Amino acid sequence: MAKVRFTETALRDAHQSLLATRMRTRDMIPIAEEMDKVGYFSVEAWGGATFDTCIRYLNEDPWERLRQLKSEFNHTPIQMLLRGQNLVGYKHYPDDIVTKFVEKSYENGVDVFRIFDALNDIRNMEKAIKVAKDQGAHVQGTISYTISPVHTLDDFVNLAKDLEALDCDSVAIKDMAGLITPTAAYDLVSALKEETDLLVDLHCHCTSGMTPISYYAACQAGVDILDTAISPLAWGTSQPPTESMVAALQGTPFDTGLDLKLLTSIKKYFDDIKEKYLSILDPISESVDADVLLYQIPGGMLSNLISQLKEQNALDRYNDVLDEMPRVRKDMGYPPLVTPTSQIVGIQSVMNVLGGERYKTVSNEVKEYMKGMYGKPPAPVDEEISKRIIGDDEVITCRPADLLEPEFDKFKSEGEEKGFVKSDEDALTYALYPPIAPKFLKGEAEEEELKPAHTLNADEGIGIPTEYNVEVDGDVFEVKIMPTGFMEIEETESGNFKPVEGAVPSPMQGMVIKLNVNVGDKVAQGSTIAVIEAMKMENDIQSEVDGTVEEIFVEPGDAVSIGDTLMVIK
Ligand code: MN
Repeated sequence: MAKVRFTETALRDAHQSLLATRMRTRDMIPIAEEMDKVGYFSVEAWGGATFDTCIRYLNEDPWERLRQLKSEFNHTPIQMLLRGQNLVGYKHYPDDIVTKFVEKSYENGVDVFRIFDALNDIRNMEKAIKVAKDQGAHVQGTISYTISPVHTLDDFVNLAKDLEALDCDSVAIKDMAGLITPTAAYDLVSALKEETDLLVDLHCHCTSGMTPISYYAACQAGVDILDTAISPLAWGTSQPPTESMVAALQGTPFDTGLDLKLLTSIKKYFDDIKEKYLSILDPISESVDADVLLYQIPGGMLSNLISQLKEQNALDRYNDVLDEMPRVRKDMGYPPLVTPTSQIVGIQSVMNVLGGERYKTVSNEVKEYMKGMYGKPPAPVDEEISKRIIGDDEVITCRPADLLEPEFDKFKSEGEEKGFVKSDEDALTYALYPPIAPKFLKGEAEEEELKPAHTLNADEGIGIPTEYNVEVDGDVFEVKIMPTGFMEIEETESGNFKPVEGAVPSPMQGMVIKLNVNVGDKVAQGSTIAVIEAMKMENDIQSEVDGTVEEIFVEPGDAVSIGDTLMVIK
């Protein structure tokens, strides 16, 4: 029997799952040469959330990271995770952008493209697959694995056959939440080996704790490739540890032949890296949590959800959000939970819980999803809830990207005119993230500070209090602290202060990305007056009254907290 080969995820999925994708290029390069000696099938080192995080938090050019990695990895193929028509973003891009992005990714150093779609809708993968094949890359089609009342083994095998028909070289079982049991892994890998000629890769997260057993079962069923992470960045919401899996398979027909001594020296390096990033390592994402079998949150999502709830100062509602998630997923026709559906379902669950009423606030992404713009859900969506969200709007049945006009040239010329786009790569960065890319491309972004580990817990998880009781000569006053700049107050007859009448508060922490009104405009109740991006989702802010915009306190690009006054409408 052929050896089992490994894909090492330390440089992409492992730090995305455990360290909120924050590993810097300068922490990757010094160990790359050693890693290149190991003999991995590939190193997963690009794509997924790394692109976004580079420009949003690290002030790093993701393309430059790829080129630097490529110059270090001379023997080991560099693998990227590509979200089909979503590329490395959270929505569908038109075909011309998909084509250019895949071409440039290949040109800058990607050898293996793992291409998936959150709904397993092959229409969302076929363009990227074709372009990557045309470049001469190894293309790995993907099954987004999930469990639901509507998903069957046959569905997954049929998807693999469709991927094979598109000329994919291998197929990945992408078990992003660690849901696959040993028996299910055995059955699925066996069926894929029997019914296709594809190499089969199993990619799991350890969240539920079953994964190393499932990996062994997959070996017995003939799996070709397993995804693992060097041990300091393994376990929890990340992959099983590379060294342990190598040792476990030694002397079996599945022996990887990898050198444990070499892996140990790499491990030592990543011990230090883990120490360096300890302040962002959340204990929850590092531990085993069998509850995941109920709410099915992929590794990356869990650590992001925690940091997002912290941002909203609502970590105490974590369990309520976890309870709400399966309900939202059912309403949406049981999508597998992986980017972007994990975000869409996760954030809607947060809004349903924090908003006090289900679907009172709905992100634009949920509206689009209900209209079929993400593709065909595995099961029909809940009709009543869909009606409430999109009314009588048309639901499409065609390939979603067929409705999108070409955009690359527009972004390129616009960015060049404004002076911050100097290459096709820059233009792609801009096209992918129009709200945040300009700041980065102009060189105005700053690298997020990495807190030393010992300051952890000082404010993490609690947030800065905004309400205080102040005692003055024995009288206790309740005081609310608002951020300066946005809040306006007026004195009431009784001498108390209250917010200005007509003030429109931000319902969430986020960034203003669009204002739909100007001072003096008349607005109708229910009309959209601004768009706030929170947790990577765009949210329409609607006027609660008929009136006239008297004052606007924010502009696009401003960060706002819950309760900040956006504008005054009287
Ligand atoms: Mn993963």
